[in-house]
Amino acid sequence: QDLLNSALGRIEAAHDLNALISLNEGAAEQAQQVENRVAAGETLPLAGVPIIVKDNINVTGTRTTCGSRILGNYVSPYTATAAQRLQDAGAVIVGKANMDEFAMGSSTESSAQGPTLNPWDKGRVPGGSSGGSAVAVAAGLTPVSLGSDTGGSVRQPAALCGVYGLKPTYGRVSRYGLVAYASSLDQIGPFARSAEDLALLMNVIAGHDPRDATSLEAPPKFAAGTPDGLRGLRVGVIRESLAGNTAGVQRTLDDTLSALKAAGASVGEVSLPELKYAIAAYYLIAMPEASSNLARYDGMVYGQRVSGSDLMESMTLTREQGFGREVQRRIMIGTYALSSGYYDAYYSKAMKVRRLLADEFNAAFGQYDVLLTPTSPFPAFRTGEKTADPLAMYAADVDTVAINLAGLPALSVPAGFEEVDGVKLPIGMQFIAPALKDELLVGLAGGLE
Ligand code: GLN
Repeated sequence: QDLLNSALGRIEAAHDLNALISLNEGAAEQAQQVENRVAAGETLPLAGVPIIVKDNINVTGTRTTCGSRILGNYVSPYTATAAQRLQDAGAVIVGKANMDEFAMGSSTESSAQGPTLNPWDKGRVPGGSSGGSAVAVAAGLTPVSLGSDTGGSVRQPAALCGVYGLKPTYGRVSRYGLVAYASSLDQIGPFARSAEDLALLMNVIAGHDPRDATSLEAPPKFAAGTPDGLRGLRVGVIRESLAGNTAGVQRTLDDTLSALKAAGASVGEVSLPELKYAIAAYYLIAMPEASSNLARYDGMVYGQRVSGSDLMESMTLTREQGFGREVQRRIMIGTYALSSGYYDAYYSKAMKVRRLLADEFNAAFGQYDVLLTPTSPFPAFRTGEKTADPLAMYAADVDTVAINLAGLPALSVPAGFEEVDGVKLPIGMQFIAPALKDELLVGLAGGLE
């Protein structure tokens, strides 16, 4: 109860950051249940740990709005597997984090509840789409949080807010109860302030779930640090990620490479030429999947309904008024790319690029244990700076989307700062591992601390 009250106090004090969409009304009761379980002799790995989860993760009795007007009054009738595992391990879900509408964005500006502010500079974005979850940890509202990552939405806000953010291997964490954006890319991932906290969380949430057929059997065994430290680790810097970075990002990459070498790792460079098509391929896969997934919001079963004179008009008005501009744009582009006559030119072409990219990553892992890029080419940008230009916003994902296309795990590690207009802004480095080697990422992050 003390931990919960302390988190609630911090949330109240940081109200201006707009990091949360709602509080969990059932939290006090859940904290009491944890106290009872501990008193009865149970050993719980996360006993009493307050935690915030992104608002696209269902938790019974909480509103799950996905940052959208269309789900503004939707209350979850069930709990997502990842959230359930946290609760079973003793964690108390305190609230739901703000996010870009339906996780579509890189800045947490498109939420129906308004933008979340970056605690390092309140005139700047926290990144997105899991900006509220990143800010929750960066501002110390809770020690850990959950987000979701379809094309970078855990890693990029982690980088822009100076915390750790892990996108697990596709299938490592159950997606049951995560509201779908692009199902073949979506993964739930943790934010934390240390590799040890990441390991604690992953050991709880990872593993097979009979309710998600794409979830994997691999037993979780995460630890911060590896037996031999970083000695002998082969790190490949991806050449395509070296262009277009700010001076501070470049300097932080150089510093990271020096630290790796000093710890006994070997460092080389590797080229993945197909990466130049990654953003185009990503959006031509994510948007079609989104257009299908979001067809269910027609005002008939879920969320808000705007009534019209007949069924068609009701559905049209509901979607017109319920979805924001970016979501509408993506539904239209996605529908277009899937339609007869365009499918081969766009969607099917993008799927071929996806295959080639995965092959290039696999080839690179023949030479290197992990690959390295900056998580974002720049630190946090100004609120409003990219909202008028969707393509500029999409370009913010240049270093992250390919990892989801290939299904790989990747971890953003807080690695340095860049001073902009007299303010220190955090910078993250992204380590990428072969599928199911998520543990290696958390281990090496521990070695780097
Ligand atoms: N910014 C990317 C997008 O808008 C990634 C979002 C995400 O990972 N959910 O699709």
